[in-house]
Amino acid sequence: MKKNSWLKYTDKNITELNKICDNYKEFLSNNKTERECVDTIINLVESKGFKNLDNLINSNTKIKCGEKIYVNNKNKALALFVIGKDIINDGINILGAHIDSPRIDIRSNPIYEEEGFTYFDTHYYGGIKKYQWVTLPLALHGVIIKKDLEKINIKIGEDKDDPVFSITDLLPHLAKNQMDKEARKVIEGEKLDILIGSKPMDEEKESIKKNILNILNKKYDIIEEDFLSAELEVVPAGKARDLGLDKSMIIGYGQDDRVCAYTSLTAFLDCPNTDKTISCILVDKEEIGSVGATGMHSKFYENAISEICLLLGFDSSVSVGRVLNNSRMLSSDVNAAYDPLYSDVMDKNNSSYFGRGIAFCKFTGSGGKTGSNDANAEYIAKLRKILDENNTSYQFSELGKVDVGGGGTIAYILANQNVEVIDSGIAVLNMHAPWEITSKADIYEAYKGYKTFLTKC
Ligand code: MN
Ligand code: MN
Repeated sequence: MKKNSWLKYTDKNITELNKICDNYKEFLSNNKTERECVDTIINLVESKGFKNLDNLINSNTKIKCGEKIYVNNKNKALALFVIGKDIINDGINILGAHIDSPRIDIRSNPIYEEEGFTYFDTHYYGGIKKYQWVTLPLALHGVIIKKDLEKINIKIGEDKDDPVFSITDLLPHLAKNQMDKEARKVIEGEKLDILIGSKPMDEEKESIKKNILNILNKKYDIIEEDFLSAELEVVPAGKARDLGLDKSMIIGYGQDDRVCAYTSLTAFLDCPNTDKTISCILVDKEEIGSVGATGMHSKFYENAISEICLLLGFDSSVSVGRVLNNSRMLSSDVNAAYDPLYSDVMDKNNSSYFGRGIAFCKFTGSGGKTGSNDANAEYIAKLRKILDENNTSYQFSELGKVDVGGGGTIAYILANQNVEVIDSGIAVLNMHAPWEITSKADIYEAYKGYKTFLTKC
């Protein structure tokens, strides 16, 4: 059996682990939407000398070895590249993860008043257990784009002086019928509306709603119709924190999949001078099937490689295929951690465990591996070798018992382009709940493993 990573750490390791985990908690607390992640990461990489690919294309600037490039896809997805010493046709070492997380979205016509309360109407995003999202303090994050294209950034509920929001639930005294319902029906989608006000302005009709619109107008200079061109996400309010008396774990919102996104990004930025070209892809929409312009199915990554090949002086019509053919990827996403309280759905020998390092999945999918990437044994052997040589802990697992369920990731999408891909990631307890839990040791091992992959694979 694999040893628990905590047992191998020196004092120096623990110092490094704590530094990475403290920075990660800060990232998680400050970036709760895909747009916030993209904004923060662009600011960070620009300060490290990364150039916007659009600018390089527009000025037809030739690029060379060592060039650092970022691609911003509609402020919701990102690709980063550092051009290596080797010719790009030899392929790219790619780290990929997603930066969208399950949440509750505000609908297009959201504000309504009902018997002394005003609400935001919502439609949830991704696979959530709806009953977990009621009675919590919630924050509102996102953007409103006015008709003149002015962008209003919204973040309410994170500052100590901010108000928060909440979804109500029935008191137990009156919940006899509700308590008899099956879990998926205890709280239904239409009941996930957000309570936002109760104070009337005057004695007229819909005066609580009018008061709310007034507050919004004063603060942001917006009118009700501006919600038509808004993207507003309701997420748990509050910061990521240490969990456990031994502080060995982190609890926070959106660790699926920002725990893999953050560790991938940090590892990527910490190894700029590699022989191979390296890349880090951070995409949107994984939780709803990776569809749309900002999901992994979008052509934006292929197009970026094509543009980079042109600026490197290659015929991009031939090169893109060659580059992808010769590339390798760690497609990272969280994995279900073995939970002893729910051992009935897990296979002990094929689960991922806290503290045992990066969790690889040869295949994901469900019911006969449908919808899965299946990593090639030759590729896995190579990864085992380099990770063992670098003393990185890893484990191989699957999501639950056969026929119990399953899940998908972005892995198969790049695999469809003939890239060597394996699912890797970090084990999470409470996946898709408002507050998810990870192990600090696994975060540290993932960071180390990603660095080893970028430099040695
Ligand atoms: Mn995920
Ligand atoms: Mn997920």
